[in-house]
Amino acid sequence: MKYKSIEAVPYLTIPSCSRKKGVKYVCRTEIMDIKGEEHFVLEIYRNKKSSMKIPVARVVMTQKEYGTYFPEQELWSGKQFTGNTWDDEGILGKIEPMYRSRGGVEKNFVLLTQEDRDRIEKYCQGVYVWRKENWWEFISEKQRKIKDQENRGRWRRRSERRQRALDERAKATPELPEQRILQYAEDSLFHHKHYLYYKKHGSRAKIACSACGNVADKRWKAGISYESQLESLIEEPRHGYYGKCPICGADVIFFAAGKAKTMETQKKYVFLGQRYKEAGIIIRYIDVQKEWQLETLVDDTGMVMQGAYERMDGLEIARAYFEPGKKVQIDYHKHSYCSGKDFWDDCNLSGNANIIIREAAVMPETWDAMKESFLKYSALEEFRKAAGDVQVIDYLEHYVQTPQIEMLVKMHMIQIVKRLVRYNYGIVVDVESNRMDQFLGIRKERIKMLMNELGDTTLLDILQKEKRWGKLWTEEQIRKLTELESGERRLDIGQALKYMTMQKLLNRIEKYAGCKFGSGCSRVVHQLYQTAMTYLDYLNMREELGYDLHNSVYQYPRDLEAAHNKMVLERNREQISKRQQETEEKYPLIRKYYRKLRKRYYYEDNTYAIRPARSAGEIVKEGQLLHHCVGGNYYLEKHNKGVSYILMLRFRDKPEEPYITIEVDAENNKILQWYGSYDKKPDEDNMKRWINRYEQWLKGDRVEEKIRILATA
Ligand SMILES: [Zn+2]
Repeated sequence: MKYKSIEAVPYLTIPSCSRKKGVKYVCRTEIMDIKGEEHFVLEIYRNKKSSMKIPVARVVMTQKEYGTYFPEQELWSGKQFTGNTWDDEGILGKIEPMYRSRGGVEKNFVLLTQEDRDRIEKYCQGVYVWRKENWWEFISEKQRKIKDQENRGRWRRRSERRQRALDERAKATPELPEQRILQYAEDSLFHHKHYLYYKKHGSRAKIACSACGNVADKRWKAGISYESQLESLIEEPRHGYYGKCPICGADVIFFAAGKAKTMETQKKYVFLGQRYKEAGIIIRYIDVQKEWQLETLVDDTGMVMQGAYERMDGLEIARAYFEPGKKVQIDYHKHSYCSGKDFWDDCNLSGNANIIIREAAVMPETWDAMKESFLKYSALEEFRKAAGDVQVIDYLEHYVQTPQIEMLVKMHMIQIVKRLVRYNYGIVVDVESNRMDQFLGIRKERIKMLMNELGDTTLLDILQKEKRWGKLWTEEQIRKLTELESGERRLDIGQALKYMTMQKLLNRIEKYAGCKFGSGCSRVVHQLYQTAMTYLDYLNMREELGYDLHNSVYQYPRDLEAAHNKMVLERNREQISKRQQETEEKYPLIRKYYRKLRKRYYYEDNTYAIRPARSAGEIVKEGQLLHHCVGGNYYLEKHNKGVSYILMLRFRDKPEEPYITIEVDAENNKILQWYGSYDKKPDEDNMKRWINRYEQWLKGDRVEEKIRILATA
């Protein structure tokens, strides 16, 4: 928008004779030329004698832009004329919130003349409006269209920019030395593997060599005839054995044709680094595939070997551009199923089709390219020597972010670097620090120990705890702890150390386990670990249940197993009572309607009595004692809502001891299910009969059954 020029245009103003009664705002339009461009202007005036010269708002549109000027505030707004909820979202709502005034827009905002209306329709040609009488909708719709186009344009411009950058990168990308890559793969990844396919017949064998492609019929066992004596022998072909091709001399593996499928493919991946522009480097990720094949033909004599070959090809999958001061850019090789063409794109595929770059071999050319680039101190070469295959792109990306990686590699902390390269930054304490001890969050004097263990991350964790908790442990203690921590799960020793020294803790674990640290035997290690788990778990429960662990009887029980089990029981009891409380609050109606329900469901004879549950808590307890699922929210909810009820059947002389739990349908009094402990049905025939009779009684057959009904309260 040409804001300044528009502001300079005088207001249209409203003749004072045009005032209409009961109208709040009068609107006037004009189409004018501002700086050589056609502009549509709509001015909104307060319908007051004093406000005829300066509008409240001036809405301006061209075919491409729009904006609204508020003279009073001297402000421009980019909002639409009316928003979706035009009460307060749009320009109109800003002037006069619709929920405050009666009659909506048509009563409050009136056009000055019919010409204004015509002008609006003319300017907003091609805009579809549902209700043509609403002049403001034309303006809204027109603005919406402008906005759409602008968004589309932005998208297009962005994707054009990306495409240009992609093309520019592709142009600056050095050529891929394809032959050299295949040669490297053959030498270093496939190790010149060749097959000599064979098929024996008597003392001869048909052979086909994948290295030279030749087929021959050779004798491997000497014959009796004179001629056969003259013929040279080959070694006896045996499947899977190594030998030499008698034709070309290549080292081969014998392969019995017809034994298995005679086509084999292998895929390997390789990274190649090349210089890019000034000090940059491009890392290319290439997939090399090799195929070995025996060509056969079947005729009436059976399978006939025709020839053999091996073939290799490569495909560049991704390339990462590293340039000083720039974000890493990774381009991916994709295939379009629509056009059938391959192309490069600057983003990965989403979802399952995601291209994954894995750890792979690195071509030696990479090291020379690195030396000339801004990443020369990345220590990538040293890391590869120590760690084997690497994911070069990830490594370098992390190195750019975390240059301390160079130091870590040079200090042989390979395990730590491996974790960092897998985005596991949680293992270091201060990523910003250049001091190794601060970076790792350990005591300075421990660095040597960690270096000797190649940056073992279990050890790192222990050393971090030592520093964090302000302790100073002996090397022997640390070693013992490392032995413990190598178990399946990290141990939480922090809590135990509040009450005892590290030495005491280790001694007790040894004593309870009945074996010593440092045996190197995996069974002993496991035993120590298990014991430590039990002991720490025990201490944890003791503390949680509110015992004072400074008391040595609690801290150091004679029988760990027994003490642990005791705590488990005690904690369960706590949990049940907690659950009882919760359910009482959540399902209060069970308790509230107990009396009422009791009148309906109470029944007893000489042996048994049955009644509804008194409360949610009682149902929870019943479920716990009988080990069935009645205490779950499903049944509590039903009972609480009056869908079905939980009844308790007990021996009359043991009214507080759970026996059988029954669920009855509230509507038709049908027994839905009944169970004793562990979901079993005790005394089944008898109880079934009894419960059936009870059901009959519930359904109204009360007189026939001569049972005494207790007078209820
Ligand atoms: Zn050969």
